[in-house]
Amino acid sequence: MTTSAQLFEQACRHIPGGVNSPVRAFKGMERAPVFIERAQGAYLYDVEGQRYIDYVGSWGPLITGHADPDVLGAVRDRLDDGLSFGTPTAIETRMAELICDIMPSIDMVRMVNSGTEATMSAIRLARGHTGRDKIVKFEGNYHGHSDSLLVKAGSGALTHGEPSSPGVPASLAEHTVTLPYNDLDAVRACFAELGDEIAGIIVEPVAGNMNCIPPQPDFLKGLREVCDAHGSVLIFDEVMTGFRVALGGAQAHFGVTPDLTCLGKIVGGGMPVGAFGGTRELMEQVSPLGPIYQAGTLAGNPLAMAAGIALLEKIREPGFHDALGERVATLCDGLEARAEAAGVDLITQRAGGMFGVFFTAQRRVDNFAQATACDADTFRRFFLGMLEEGVYLAPSPFEAGFMSSAHTAADIQTTLDAAERVLATLGQ
Ligand code: PLP
Repeated sequence: MTTSAQLFEQACRHIPGGVNSPVRAFKGMERAPVFIERAQGAYLYDVEGQRYIDYVGSWGPLITGHADPDVLGAVRDRLDDGLSFGTPTAIETRMAELICDIMPSIDMVRMVNSGTEATMSAIRLARGHTGRDKIVKFEGNYHGHSDSLLVKAGSGALTHGEPSSPGVPASLAEHTVTLPYNDLDAVRACFAELGDEIAGIIVEPVAGNMNCIPPQPDFLKGLREVCDAHGSVLIFDEVMTGFRVALGGAQAHFGVTPDLTCLGKIVGGGMPVGAFGGTRELMEQVSPLGPIYQAGTLAGNPLAMAAGIALLEKIREPGFHDALGERVATLCDGLEARAEAAGVDLITQRAGGMFGVFFTAQRRVDNFAQATACDADTFRRFFLGMLEEGVYLAPSPFEAGFMSSAHTAADIQTTLDAAERVLATLGQ
């Protein structure tokens, strides 16, 4: 039998770090990543035959579990018709109608191939529409790896960005202003100084890339007001939160309407799909209708549309998100109770179908500085212990967890029993 460790060694010979996306490498976890052979429902099965209860769900898309027969069936039904035509197809219109119906802030939508493309295109549209160059983003929010958005935080509200990756031109990064998440005063101060230069704000309406950090009560509403006052475009990056925090995304959950929305993950049902959409006024400026260029050879791919539509139709079922949220609450409350009993400082935060586990004595975590102050080594030991117990958590203290409707009460109980055993070892 070939082990994960052997496969990883082979992979490292010709793939940088052995992976096609960095977080899969288990960096910092002090072991090789698990190589998965197949998955079904709530479970992953690795190449060595071990089963795991999965709380990653391919990083969010698989909200009804792995290998959902309805999603696979929809893809299978179209497979023999061909993989791609490079022409318009009726199924793309069906997808657009579905998205616009589920998210009333979206009058028109353009399909792309990833979340990165969605945010990159939305930024270009905001800049093209306003004729301004500056973008505001928040520390610890991740919007994919396009140049304008790969900018780390500076200190202080008005600090201009600097590249966080070699290869991002400083002359481009200087147009990205990075502010602390959940800090409306910093946003107001920034706009007071630079407001008429700012094309837009891009925000994860629930931050899911520095663990799980919901917005404070008036944060999103405050962003809306500031954008309105300065003629800037408000972009919600709902790549992670869309169709997960609520059917209509975080914008439905918190009742704040953005000008543009970026989608990914669930919208593709597990296939490589993203989308950006918003008001008719903005979207009519996208080529070929308007001058702002955006394109994609495989965008709107019929098989990917079939998968996404099947999944969206399925999760529109009334009560789906309430039930998902209840599962998350059971897991989070159970973890907190067991941590308390074990004398381990642990809190959870959650929004709908996503959650975060923080090893900290803080009562809540609201921003990047607080998230990075949590105990990463205790997380690592918890992660490794849970993996050993057959529970697959994201291999980083800065990633959110994802629940699916395939997780049963028994799966959650098994997870909590495992957590009880692992937490008992953490104080030692
Ligand atoms: N935006 C958010 C909020 C994300 O979480 C991600 C990926 O995790 C992206 C954008 C980028 O999406 P993709 O990895 O599909 O390019």
